[in-house]
Amino acid sequence: MADPIPFDDALQRILAAAPAWPVQHVPLQAALGCVLAEDVRADRDWPPFNRSMVDGFALHSAETLSPPVSLKVIEDVPAGTSATRALQPGEAIRIMTGAPVPEGADSVVMQERTESSDRSSVRVLMTLKPGQNISKRGEDARVNDIVAPTGTALTPGTIGILAFAGCHSVPVRRVPRVAILATGNELVEPYLPATGAQIRNSNSYQLLAQCAAQHWPTTYLGIARDTLEDTRAKIAEGLSHDLLLTTGGVSVGEFDYVGPVLRELGVTLAFNKVAIKPGKPTTFGVKNKTIVFGLPGNPVAAFVCFHLFVRAAIRKSLGASDPLPRFQNFKNATALKSPGDRTTFRPARLTHDATVEALEWHGSGHLAALLNADALIVQAANTPVEAGQPVRTLLL
Ligand code: AMP
Ligand code: MG
Repeated sequence: MADPIPFDDALQRILAAAPAWPVQHVPLQAALGCVLAEDVRADRDWPPFNRSMVDGFALHSAETLSPPVSLKVIEDVPAGTSATRALQPGEAIRIMTGAPVPEGADSVVMQERTESSDRSSVRVLMTLKPGQNISKRGEDARVNDIVAPTGTALTPGTIGILAFAGCHSVPVRRVPRVAILATGNELVEPYLPATGAQIRNSNSYQLLAQCAAQHWPTTYLGIARDTLEDTRAKIAEGLSHDLLLTTGGVSVGEFDYVGPVLRELGVTLAFNKVAIKPGKPTTFGVKNKTIVFGLPGNPVAAFVCFHLFVRAAIRKSLGASDPLPRFQNFKNATALKSPGDRTTFRPARLTHDATVEALEWHGSGHLAALLNADALIVQAANTPVEAGQPVRTLLL
């Protein structure tokens, strides 16, 4: 695997190799961030009855052709109750939002458009149309319709849908238990003093935070020293998880042991170089149901490759219907020089009116460039982009 492969090929290899993780049932309260493994169907019509959308009076619209009209109020129907009898001509019922509209009524007048001097009568001040202020039984879904298909990502909105359908034990693919490993003799943890040629380990904390944001449980394996033995021992431990993320040690340096150790431990590598900047040495492989990413050591590269590749692999293994990163066109704010011969992902920030602005960025080690980054601009190889032109953008 000598030559770097194109970005789109790397994504396709990820889709082809990422294993499907096992299905389990989780409580609704624990389902955020999971992906549905079965279709969820409506167990009743939605709404289950003709439902009043307002507080007011249910009536027959044909009686309101020449307002004002006076009607007799025969009963009160709060939400959760039903009227005891059908409406007769000249009658109305006082109804609350969410209550079933009684037989004989075809519309509901808002309370604000009525006058009432006592509880047994009402003056209606407007003409109603049939169906006005009523959600029809079954207008959102019919019983047994699929309301959330297999592959739906469970967001707060979709979890609301499951709750409404009475799905409280949710079939999902298991979210990954993630192991995170840094490599490098030069690294020290952030809580220790760093002197001389030492570098603070930022990648592990960046990745722990990325996983926390996705609700994936993590195990932190610390820093492997640049020896075959330590790298092997820590990677072997990481392989007992669903996902192992390592950083560093995947270039062509003398102490870059991650690739050889992965192979030695039976990981099938799908690629180990991608023609992108930053992130060229990104390595991806699979062993049984475990996914491994050897991410580059440079912190901006690790960050970018998490968004480009790790999320896609995980979404595929979770069974998401759209696992790949979703690029959108935004207007480019400032002219960008040709990036050289690799597809380039520049840290950027959204400004206003669908405009994206590249941030000052000195390369894959320039972590400070991420301070205000909420997007990546995709620049094709050898292609400058003028201000005002559309650019492909990934929102972070
Ligand atoms: P490597 O691929 O191991 O040669 O690492 C490339 C560059 O990234 C080197 O300058 C490393 O010092 C730096 N680097 C590697 N791992 C980390 C880390 N965990 N946190 C911050 N920088 C790192
Ligand atoms: Mg290293």
